[in-house]
Amino acid sequence: MLSDLKRIPTIAVYGLTGCAGELLVILENLDKLLPFVKLRSFPFAQSHNEITPVDIALIEGSVSQPHDLEKLKEIRARSRWLVAVGNCAVWGCVQAEGCKRFSLTEMVSSVYGNDSKIAAMESKPLADHVKVDVKLSGCPINASQFLAVVASLLKDNLPYITHKPLCLECKLKENPCVLIEKNLPCLGPVTAAGCGALCPSMGAACYGCWGPCETPQMDAMATVLLEKGFQFDEVLGRLTTFGAPHDLFKRMSEFKTAEN
Ligand code: SF4
Ligand code: SF4
Repeated sequence: MLSDLKRIPTIAVYGLTGCAGELLVILENLDKLLPFVKLRSFPFAQSHNEITPVDIALIEGSVSQPHDLEKLKEIRARSRWLVAVGNCAVWGCVQAEGCKRFSLTEMVSSVYGNDSKIAAMESKPLADHVKVDVKLSGCPINASQFLAVVASLLKDNLPYITHKPLCLECKLKENPCVLIEKNLPCLGPVTAAGCGALCPSMGAACYGCWGPCETPQMDAMATVLLEKGFQFDEVLGRLTTFGAPHDLFKRMSEFKTAEN
């Protein structure tokens, strides 16, 4: 147990299908963690790794191949807390959204050619397969938020992570609204807070890389963007790149049919 103060807590870091962005953030911040934990495994960063029970397993990437699933279940079975780290692990991200639009065969052949022997499966977030204790969004994750999550777990507490809309952070910073004032397609109203409203603070539109906020009003967001003159395909693409409710494609297609 982490509450056993005589024992140094153990962590392990793994990657499934993803770009390694989260692994890099963790690597960059490892020196802040190592005084408090023992690192049992981090195949991305070191060659000697142990397969052993750990207190905290941090996993980046989505489940997109059978060996991802096998690995995920094996890690889950020997970890006290399992943290889905980053948008691929939490939402499935680009690869999962692609699977909602195209067949697996179309996706595999377009990337690897028709003779590919790649064993692909429909790309999904971790929680679709195993119990996930903490979902830490971001593309990539915010280092401070990541360290706060680990600190909380080391004290045996599940961390509080807000999934309120990004507009809340943006307003607290008193940024001018780029959606209203510059007519930019900002996704702040449907995106989870956590990045500190990075893009609108620089005068740019949020493109939703933190994934959807709690109860995102996607239909209303789509209506606003279409009314502002953005094309249907652009709106659909923006709303679905980093994670969207499963039925959004269907709803948007109905919307398009009704419009025509
Ligand atoms: S700029 Fe974007 S995030 Fe900021 S208030 Fe406007 S819509 Fe929300
Ligand atoms: S403002 Fe939006 S796109 Fe920019 S970092 Fe934050 S969540 Fe990502």
